Amino acid sequence: MTARKAAPRKHRPADCPVCKGTGEIPVPVRLGRARRVVGTQNGFCLNCLGSGLNPDTD
Ligand SMILES: [Zn+2]
Repeated sequence: MTARKAAPRKHRPADCPVCKGTGEIPVPVRLGRARRVVGTQNGFCLNCLGSGLNPDTD
């Protein structure tokens, strides 16, 4: 059994600089073989993993 302690927050986490705190980023949508960009859609921000918080400030 592993007890996990929640780390106390010493400071307020900043917004993720990549997605501006939204947790989503616009990603280009490409169509198969031609790789034609047909537009953008909201994608999961990989910097903050969708939390919208800057992981580097912890
Ligand atoms: Zn982000």
